[in-house]
Amino acid sequence: MSSNGKDRKLKHSVLKMFSPEDYSFVFSSIEDSEKSNKISKAAEWTILWLKFKSLCNESGSVVFDIDDTLVDGSEKKIVSICRVYKIAQKLGFVCNIITARPESKENRSYTKKMLASHGLSDYEVLYMMPSKTEPTMENISFYKYNARMHVAQRHAILCNLGDMWTDHIKMPCAHKELRNRDVAECAILFVPGTNYPSIKLPGVY
Ligand SMILES: [Mg+2]
Repeated sequence: MSSNGKDRKLKHSVLKMFSPEDYSFVFSSIEDSEKSNKISKAAEWTILWLKFKSLCNESGSVVFDIDDTLVDGSEKKIVSICRVYKIAQKLGFVCNIITARPESKENRSYTKKMLASHGLSDYEVLYMMPSKTEPTMENISFYKYNARMHVAQRHAILCNLGDMWTDHIKMPCAHKELRNRDVAECAILFVPGTNYPSIKLPGVY
């Protein structure tokens, strides 16, 4: 293949992978017909980003949601995102977990065991939602936002991964581009007001 042909092929594959939007902030959808490929692509991009942060001698924390992020609906490990977790630790970054699973002694113990069974250990804090909080979108997004603020008091957040918009945006959102988005979307974005990428993984309706 000629170098021109190679360039065209590369450009085509990059264009096929990312579909940037013309917003006032960075927002790029990750394209693929298969959900699992979207997750793998998002994971690969995140690993490159974390390696870059490491090369820049930065330190900080990577934030993970649990359900449909680290594990699927049957609590089976989502391999590519668990790999991000392991690589983040290997690079010397701190992992924090923020879940909307309700806080209770039993639930915490169950969730910790479940995470450990997938080799997910040595996180700094497992944030669980106060059981008295009514699980509305606004409440979940506010609880998660406050938990991220709590992480940010200790570390620079380097990246935030989650499958729901409530993992990334405090609702109601002031930015019209981020309102009423499809939960199935997979995207990399810098939410206005943040200096780290939010990895929006494809969620389940
Ligand atoms: Mg989730």
